[in-house]
Amino acid sequence: MAAKDLDVLSMSPEELETSVAEIGEPRFRGRQLFEWLWQHGATSYDDITVWPKTLRASMAPRLPLKRLVAEKVQQAQDGTTKLLLRLDDGNRVETVLLPHPYGYSVCVSSQVGCNMGCHFCASGILGKRRNLTAGEMLDQVRYANQILGKRGQKVSRVDLMGIGEPLDNYDAMVKFLLLLHHPLGFQLSYRHVTVSTSGLVPAIYRLADEGMPVTLAVSLHAPTDALRLTLMPVNKAYPLSQLIGACLYYGETTGRRVTFEYLMLDGVNDSLENARELVNLVHDFSCHVNLIPWNRVEEHPFKPSPMARVRQFQQLVQDRGISCTIRKELGQEIDAACGQLRRREEEILR
Ligand code: SAH
Ligand code: SF4
Repeated sequence: MAAKDLDVLSMSPEELETSVAEIGEPRFRGRQLFEWLWQHGATSYDDITVWPKTLRASMAPRLPLKRLVAEKVQQAQDGTTKLLLRLDDGNRVETVLLPHPYGYSVCVSSQVGCNMGCHFCASGILGKRRNLTAGEMLDQVRYANQILGKRGQKVSRVDLMGIGEPLDNYDAMVKFLLLLHHPLGFQLSYRHVTVSTSGLVPAIYRLADEGMPVTLAVSLHAPTDALRLTLMPVNKAYPLSQLIGACLYYGETTGRRVTFEYLMLDGVNDSLENARELVNLVHDFSCHVNLIPWNRVEEHPFKPSPMARVRQFQQLVQDRGISCTIRKELGQEIDAACGQLRRREEEILR
């Protein structure tokens, strides 16, 4: 592959050393490049002020950087910020910055669209166009840091909870986690990363064995196979018994408590009987349940459960000794919440 076609943003320091050597520069420049891309957030070679001007000018045509470009930045009253980012091939993804008492988390997209077809989610409506590269995921975090830098802040947590199913893009996801954690880059602890999945069982086993103790969040949303099948087609391939088995393995292998995400859909999965079924399903191991108020998506027919019912549901689960929280709703006026992010097909076709 010609040097100009290389995916520079997805490379480790060692891979960058090899690539710069191939275009006739000293190997150590590769390591420096990694540091400047991710630790210092250089947006172009021009920003690498420790390099001679002639080198900076000659690098861009030889080893182009395909940084993401923000087309739109929307900020809500509560500080939630949604970015519409254009990829090098013209596709677009969304990334969201969320304020918390401990600092900011960034919700990163892993694919352009999604193929899982969950019946309540906006991200999957148009299907998947393509996987993101590790560099495209990493660059979302860099962009978030660039924005937060202006507020004197930086990203404290990363959630793979934007558009896409991260475990359906396994290799790029693992590379992303590795580079995010790298001592020459952002140096983010694996404990400050959450990977959310609709339940791809073989990939959960694989991730458990990677030696990357990230938090696993599993989108459960229903306590029985019959009900889950009506909401999530993935349940056909991986029914609940298999999914729960994989979660147990993940918890035992990594020592991390698994989180179960449970959307509250009015009259669908939010009865006290459903809460009892949920307790029966997960009571065997140390886990956490997060109840998610459903964010409206106009193409889907559901209604969010009334808050009183969400609280009753929470109470029952807690009374049975299972830790259970209700997710705070953030960024609603800019449609920045989970499940509302989507592939911008209309803009691609423009
Ligand atoms: N594909 C992964 C991660 C992205 S979705 C997954 O499904 O886990 C992130 C979370 O948003 C998931 O828990 C998903 O079920 C939830 N979600 C999807 N649509 C939603 C909506 N309309 N309102 C609230 N949460 C939603
Ligand atoms: Fe894909 Fe997750 Fe949305 Fe399901 S909920 S369609 S897996 S992004």
